[in-house]
Amino acid sequence: MANINTSAKDRTFDAIVIGSGISGGWAAKEFTEKGLKTLVLERGRDVKHLKDYPTTNMYPWEFPHRGQIPEAIKAENPSISRCYAFKEDAMHFFVKDKEHPYIQDKPFDLIRGYQVGGKSLMWARQTQRWSNFDFEGPARDGFAVDWPIRYEDIAPWYSYVEKFVGISGNKDGIPNLPDGEFLPAMDLTRVETYFKDFVAANYKDRHVIYGRCAHLSEPQPIHIEQGRVKCQKRNLCQRGCPFGGYFSSNSSTLPWAEKTGNLTMRPFSVVHSIIYDEKKGKATGVRVVDTNTKEMTEYYANVIFVNAAAVNTNLILLNSVSNRFPQGLGNDSGVLGKYFAFHNYRGHISAQYDGFKDITTDGRRPTSAYLPRFRNVQKQETDFLRGYAAGFDGGRRLTSDNSGFGVGLKDKLSNEELGPWYVGSHMMGETIPKEESQLTLDKTSKDEWGIPTLHINVGYDDNDEKMLKDFFEQMTEMYTKAGFTNIQTSDSHQAPGLDIHEMGGVRMGHDPKTSMLNKWNQLHACTNVYVTDGACMTSTSTQNPSLTYMALTARAVDHAVSSLKKGDI
Ligand SMILES: Cc1cc2nc3c(=O)[nH]c(=O)nc-3n(C[C@H](O)[C@H](O)[C@H](O)COP(=O)(O)OP(=O)(O)OC[C@H]3O[C@@H](n4cnc5c(N)ncnc54)[C@H](O)[C@@H]3O)c2cc1C
Repeated sequence: MANINTSAKDRTFDAIVIGSGISGGWAAKEFTEKGLKTLVLERGRDVKHLKDYPTTNMYPWEFPHRGQIPEAIKAENPSISRCYAFKEDAMHFFVKDKEHPYIQDKPFDLIRGYQVGGKSLMWARQTQRWSNFDFEGPARDGFAVDWPIRYEDIAPWYSYVEKFVGISGNKDGIPNLPDGEFLPAMDLTRVETYFKDFVAANYKDRHVIYGRCAHLSEPQPIHIEQGRVKCQKRNLCQRGCPFGGYFSSNSSTLPWAEKTGNLTMRPFSVVHSIIYDEKKGKATGVRVVDTNTKEMTEYYANVIFVNAAAVNTNLILLNSVSNRFPQGLGNDSGVLGKYFAFHNYRGHISAQYDGFKDITTDGRRPTSAYLPRFRNVQKQETDFLRGYAAGFDGGRRLTSDNSGFGVGLKDKLSNEELGPWYVGSHMMGETIPKEESQLTLDKTSKDEWGIPTLHINVGYDDNDEKMLKDFFEQMTEMYTKAGFTNIQTSDSHQAPGLDIHEMGGVRMGHDPKTSMLNKWNQLHACTNVYVTDGACMTSTSTQNPSLTYMALTARAVDHAVSSLKKGDI
């Protein structure tokens, strides 16, 4: 980390990036490569690739609780304990519930990673492109506002990002899930291939594909240059990968930015608010609270990128008040914090298949199969808007009879038998952004950094319930026709947030009266501030969103740098 002195000159940079996660890492890489002196402000601690993955090479028996979370920790952390990835080997990457409380006007399980790298260390690395069926959705179906961009605007940036990140996938030729720049796909299991072939033979518009993911199945020179090598399929990604086999800011964009000599990384720095200069009519910097000393310092730059992840980005803008913007920076329209949405991940369905008993291995692979959205794509065909994609995986598990004790039990445990092939699928539903789904600041309470506590008031609606019912019906029908048995559906009733795809509140749009950001992700009313994380999303689509945040970020930095050169911002 560069030494920060106190003179204003030493605290002045060309660009400031708030947050060092997936989108902030990309902003840092792009700015520094283009020669801009860039300050990245990160509220959490530093996490260095390789050095700071304490559990990465541990054996199961080396964990005090064999990988499980002790009950006392669960009791203290009801929200994050509900996340599938909160396990003993990765719990140090999660923000504990008490560390940064928020007010749940409706239940909302917020999953956060406050550290250099953000949630890029915790994510499941699924990377599917959006298509025009997504970008045209709000205009076609009459909700939210029209996206100010189309697939053609972002397609070259998807390619640009994918080549650097390294995405393993197949070119599937599906109109609503465009192909990208892929490294070779990994294999599907026997039962997955069976279902894929069945669906292809029986449904014209439905597909089962290998889920595209940010793993190096065949590293290219650009990945080797980053110091990353082939994914070893250890399936221990959540611990941080010593091979750089999957993409994280820590293994990829941040060290790349550091190599340019233009990066100043400042961990332990909570951005309190953005400074707006009324005379200049633009933002001039940020106020930062040092988490160790609690002192507030100002840092200055010509352009500011807000990449604190959707909820915290809303918080920072809402808290950036001035005479010009009493309701939050850029909030002339009054939409800041509103139209917040997420993905509906409540539905699960499992089944078993009684064939292929002669095949006794299902392999190891850090991804899964995927069913792209098939409902309401070409035309409206249901009583709900939009649709869902589905994660899908299948394998064969060892079954053991744990009854009894002593020698009998030992014998049973050492002679486990393979059970039948199983399949499982989870729903990834698009939710409709609504005005009443909003984030607001509490009027009285503040957090330990002097920032008002955030209210989260976001919930499901009737559209979500109908969609869930349809997911169960359609998947049950497909499984039944394909000869699966023991089909079981379950609604987890989980609160929003656990999908970890929170989006909106600072949405893009054509019209400054109904949106916060223009087509380049600039605040309509303060053009040297850009928002390129989930907060900018006008609608949510069904695809995992982080690839789109990365592409929007690279595109926006390109715009910001050329605008700076032209003196436009
Ligand atoms: C278990 C899990 C699985 C997931 N799987 C997938 C997946 O398969 N595919 C997918 O697309 N997405 C997935 N996600 C979501 C993905 O991680 C996020 O979409 C992505 O990380 C968002 O990037 P970001 O840059 O907006 O935020 P983050 O990566 O969260 O980074 C934000 C950074 O900003 C910092 N910050 C916040 N507030 C401030 C402040 N006031 N001042 C300074 N710094 C601040 C944070 O500490 C953090 O480092 C998953 C997430 C989790 C947890």
